[in-house]
Amino acid sequence: MNKPAIVTVDDDPEVLQAVVRDLRQEYGENYRILRADSGASALEALEQLKLRNQSVALFLVDQRMPQMSGVEFLEQAMSIFPDAKRALLTAYADTDAAIRAINTTKIDYYLMKPWNPPEERLYPVLNDLLDDWQATFRPPFEGIRVIGNRWSPHSHQVKDFLARNQVPYEWMDIELSKEAEQLVEYADCNKIHFPLVIFPDGSKLTQPTNTEIAEKIGLRTQAQQPFYDLIIVGGGPAGLAAAVYGASEGLRTVMIEREAPGGQAGTSSRIENYLGFPVGLSGGDLARRAVTQARRFGVEILTPQEAKGIRVADPYRFLQLSDGSEISCHAMILALGVAWRRLDVPGVNRLTGAGVYYGAAQAEAMSCKDEEVYIVGGANSAGQAAMYFSKYARHVTMLVRGDSLGISMSQYLIDQIADTPNITVKTQTSVIEAKGETSLEAITLKNNLTGETQTVPATSLFIFIGAAPRTEWLDGVIERSDRGFILTGPDLLRDKQHIKGWNLERDPYLLETNIPGIFAVGDVRHGSVKRVASGVGEGSICVQFVHQYLSKVL
Ligand SMILES: Cc1cc2nc3c(=O)[nH]c(=O)nc-3n(C[C@H](O)[C@H](O)[C@H](O)COP(=O)(O)OP(=O)(O)OC[C@H]3O[C@@H](n4cnc5c(N)ncnc54)[C@H](O)[C@@H]3O)c2cc1C
Repeated sequence: MNKPAIVTVDDDPEVLQAVVRDLRQEYGENYRILRADSGASALEALEQLKLRNQSVALFLVDQRMPQMSGVEFLEQAMSIFPDAKRALLTAYADTDAAIRAINTTKIDYYLMKPWNPPEERLYPVLNDLLDDWQATFRPPFEGIRVIGNRWSPHSHQVKDFLARNQVPYEWMDIELSKEAEQLVEYADCNKIHFPLVIFPDGSKLTQPTNTEIAEKIGLRTQAQQPFYDLIIVGGGPAGLAAAVYGASEGLRTVMIEREAPGGQAGTSSRIENYLGFPVGLSGGDLARRAVTQARRFGVEILTPQEAKGIRVADPYRFLQLSDGSEISCHAMILALGVAWRRLDVPGVNRLTGAGVYYGAAQAEAMSCKDEEVYIVGGANSAGQAAMYFSKYARHVTMLVRGDSLGISMSQYLIDQIADTPNITVKTQTSVIEAKGETSLEAITLKNNLTGETQTVPATSLFIFIGAAPRTEWLDGVIERSDRGFILTGPDLLRDKQHIKGWNLERDPYLLETNIPGIFAVGDVRHGSVKRVASGVGEGSICVQFVHQYLSKVL
């Protein structure tokens, strides 16, 4: 943790030097001693300290300074660091001004110059003030601060990116936080450039892209080498498992992830059926553990970075990335998973990120404290989200198209929902419109049996209506089903025709696509079981097929 500061201000260089010397000697171990030779320069420095989220414990300021008196300085400093203790250094002639300031500027103490010996005339007073300050001091949050408007899609994007990459941050809503307003002023930021992201070193970004944030926080987006034994596309459970097994078995491995490692599982508030975790674990926790494990084995993780195309020039496979670069490998595993299906009704697209969200339960949960939350969907992901929100929201309403939860939700979740008093399940109900100027204000619901419609006020709508693969970029190279899932192994042989792109005597291995050496695992694979454990299983065993493939080409 950063040491809190003691700030001393005096225009007389000799006095300033003497104060600093005495302060350092007694307090240097536990406090940073900062000096300034005028009130104006001290105020500038205070703004920078505030941007770096550092604390000031005490001001020790000379009353007699030409441009700005000590009292005038303290009046302004108070608005920046209201909790810091305030002491004036005065000459005998200033005693009256100092006494008046005790009432007007809430000066805690005034000391007479000279203060020798400090052991008798300085330290006892300051010790008292610092003890008092310590008693109520709460260390400030030392991570990234995000300032913006709750209903801004760009603010949501930044929060979601940080949350999913497990980067701690403090969200400051400009409508609710006085401190946020102050920081915006010190950072010289215009509100039209929100969100403002302030890093612990005081540096800032406005309206940043995920890539800009990634660079600031040390995530890697560019490959270190042009060539790898194994490239994995997708960092969900399947990709992470493949990465851990690949690297632990000696393959030079790189994993490319478009958003954040963890994939869909990373957005799950509680996975209760993953083997070995009897009380369940959050998707974020699973992702963090897996990323640590992968890094320990030397996997290079590029995120956020998107794969855009595949090129084959035997025996090498090339992957084109969204920044225009290309990397090559012997073998490739596609672990692309699936992405949320969009709710195609009026208003939803326009208000996405401004009250309407896909997934994103964790990033927004705190903002919904004591509010009414609507959740669309009746499968496990919707059920988990309802349970999670019920801890924060005043009330959660699940909007389910079918006539019960039973069809696509696990029984343990149905039981939990039934036992949670602040969750209501509305069956036979569809959302047919989202309304609002700049953020969600109401939703229109339709009863599917009677056709009756009803518009209810709503500020938060979370959509969990299933998912679909996003594999269009593989067109012309990788064979897929009508619904876009990647065909592998026996599924390629089903119609007994020649497999497009296949030039070997042997049949494709179990998880191999129509291109030898390119494999597909997890949710994106046609016929896969859409579960964390099965994704992890496929990712792990696929590395065996990679070895078999490599043994023939190397
Ligand atoms: C909210 C929720 C709760 C769930 N709860 C459970 C549960 O309790 N138990 C359970 O067993 N299962 C659960 N599931 C299902 C489980 O999470 C998935 O089956 C699992 O995550 C699939 O893993 P995957 O690695 O195949 O794909 P995903 O998890 O979808 O990961 C794929 C990754 O690939 C990335 N990607 C895609 N295309 C590209 C590209 N072109 N370039 C770079 N990266 C790309 C994506 O950004 C994504 O991170 C849940 C799912 C959700 C959404």
